[in-house]
Amino acid sequence: MSREKENKAQAEQSVQQAQGDQQAQGELAQNVQQAQRIVVKIGTSTLTDEAGRVNAAYIESLASQVAQLCKQGTEVAIVSSGAITAGLEALNLPPARPDDIPTLQAAAAVGQVELAKHYAHAFEAQKLKTAQVLLTRNDIANREAYLHARDTLSRLLELGVVAIINENDTVAVEEIRFGDNDTLAAQVAILIGADLVILLSDIDGLYTADPRTEKDAELIEHIASFTEEIVAAAGSAGSHKGSGGMVTKLEAARQLMAAGIPMVICEGRLEGVVAEVASGALVGTRFASEQPAQAKARKLWNALSGSVKGSVIVDEGATCALREQGSSLLPVGVTKVDGTFSQGDVLDIRSASGFLIGRGISQHDAATLEQMAGHTSEELSNLALIGDAERCEVIHRDEMVIF
Ligand code: GLU
Repeated sequence: MSREKENKAQAEQSVQQAQGDQQAQGELAQNVQQAQRIVVKIGTSTLTDEAGRVNAAYIESLASQVAQLCKQGTEVAIVSSGAITAGLEALNLPPARPDDIPTLQAAAAVGQVELAKHYAHAFEAQKLKTAQVLLTRNDIANREAYLHARDTLSRLLELGVVAIINENDTVAVEEIRFGDNDTLAAQVAILIGADLVILLSDIDGLYTADPRTEKDAELIEHIASFTEEIVAAAGSAGSHKGSGGMVTKLEAARQLMAAGIPMVICEGRLEGVVAEVASGALVGTRFASEQPAQAKARKLWNALSGSVKGSVIVDEGATCALREQGSSLLPVGVTKVDGTFSQGDVLDIRSASGFLIGRGISQHDAATLEQMAGHTSEELSNLALIGDAERCEVIHRDEMVIF
């Protein structure tokens, strides 16, 4: 069987397993029903039409669904894309994303005002106030800024204000960018301790293969853990506008699973879909681990708030120790070091096949780590490569999240 076919067969098997597991789904629906704090993320292709115009009727329908939830006591924060597209429309520029950064950032600045107007207008009709919150990765990665953002967002929620959050595209340069709003939505959800994230997309969920080309591709309704097959399925699917696609949605799901927050990907234009998902209906693809959250807020912040600067490949022994014993990562288990990074940077931890196992803060820079890789602590102290045993770790378990 070809690798592709094998992946598909295994993904189909996961679908059947998931479908057969009625009890787990019942429990999941219950979890979602109890959601008190929801982050709703809207992608550019859901918010704008083919000609790049903001769909005001869509925002109105979204506001009415959110208002319905607020009446039931649910707190909602919105992560909205579409600023760049809205800005291009307002400036009468062609709808194709410009290549030059100043035009892109100027369009975002203009478009953000347009978006804010649309949201304010639609929510006012529902007697709800909106607030605009623009974040960069620095605002999450810097502990002080993170705490301020958390306090402000929590206060807005308490005040019954619907925060409309976007990346601050006007100032964000590569080093401080999230780059996509799926990751931003996951980080916001972790920041405010949400119970559910709903990603409104132009695709109705994750399929076993690309549904546009494979007619027997099936929707995966429930994903309880990440496998190589799931990642392969996501690689073949995707949405055509915005910065995301299925790969960034999976990255968001990974982070949220580690935080114990369920996430649903669904077709954003389905009538009443937000209220339906929030009420526990099984729509789209739901990512929800059946295990309790494995990482506390501080650990999540340590490992997930910064951008990834490199990666380490680890052997099977290390994979087991990380997954099953919650150990720190030691140099002896590292077989390869990739990237140029400094001590304190965030690294991905991957298996020999490249599968992402975890993420955490490196105790060493890339050059030192390359020398340390594959050596036992004893060998390292003999080689006088490291001063003290404590710093012998590559990534300390308190600064690491396992996916
Ligand atoms: N922040 C971008 C915008 O408002 C969108 C990013 C994304 O599509 O994920 O246009």
